[in-house]
Amino acid sequence: MIEKFDRMHGLPDGFFDITTANIRSLFPKPTLMQLDGRGGDFLFISILLHGNEYTGLKVMQKILADHADDLPRSILLFIGNVQAAEANRRFLPGQVDYNRCWPGTDLVPSPTSQMMQRVVEIALGLPLFAAIDIHNNTGKNPHYACITDPSLENQNLAARFNRVGMVFNHYGVSTMAFNGTCPAATLECGLPGDPRGIEHACRFIEDMLTLDELPHGKPTRHALHLVESHLTLNIPEHISYAFDPAADVDLRFESDFEDRNFTLFDPHQVFGYTRVERPLSITDTDGHDVTDEILRVEKGRIYLNNTMMPAMITRDELVIQQDCLCHLLQDYLPYHEVDL
Ligand SMILES: [Zn+2]
Repeated sequence: MIEKFDRMHGLPDGFFDITTANIRSLFPKPTLMQLDGRGGDFLFISILLHGNEYTGLKVMQKILADHADDLPRSILLFIGNVQAAEANRRFLPGQVDYNRCWPGTDLVPSPTSQMMQRVVEIALGLPLFAAIDIHNNTGKNPHYACITDPSLENQNLAARFNRVGMVFNHYGVSTMAFNGTCPAATLECGLPGDPRGIEHACRFIEDMLTLDELPHGKPTRHALHLVESHLTLNIPEHISYAFDPAADVDLRFESDFEDRNFTLFDPHQVFGYTRVERPLSITDTDGHDVTDEILRVEKGRIYLNNTMMPAMITRDELVIQQDCLCHLLQDYLPYHEVDL
């Protein structure tokens, strides 16, 4: 069985007036929309794979209003989890995460993964310039692009969004499905609806609509500081926690923990406080538990064993439960640049 999605050619009336709350009046189901432009190739753009991350909708409303009938390049737009968007949720109970079930996923096949498979087949039948997936996150983060394959074309794509870029390896994200076909990146645009994130993503999409080709050379370190995310940090369900060092709970963080996004923690800086032996759980991209390699608890204080950067820290309880507390980043070092 495949989850049903609608296909459209051209923009429906009312597109500029919808919000996520009433999105299903126009898009009752996930929708793949072809918008013809002047050029022969297509920009694939996905929005609302996470229902509450609505910056992508705002971006497309602005871009398409600006280019009403004169798109410099054709667009294949996929509007993802409209049901969750209506409810302002990442995804609904009983649904799979719409950004973990694209080709390459390690989740069991589902109607939603079949839909993504079909969407990718349709996209790959067209000449693609690049594939862009627009997201938000819940903490105070800089804007950055994520790539799953650090190919030069992907690095150059990421560098056009910001000087910090991330290599990440979650199976089944949309970006991974386009590797080897066209440059592909996920844009993390800060908090949902943040005007600066909308503006930044609009400039990037404008660039992608008019650019002849991406540079081929390796971006300098100044142009792109590439970090790697391969560790996910979760709070186990039975652990009570608070962002208040004085709270009477199992696990405590400083109240400004969120401000530590993209800042380095060295092995001697206190990461958090705890009264239990194993307050956190850290997994690598293969899902292996690597908690004991990565952190240590000494006299109620939690330390990391190596210098790392937390990213995408959230204080949102639902996100912590459905996704994670944060990721831990290190500088990306391709194999050939490591002294063996
Ligand atoms: Zn997202």
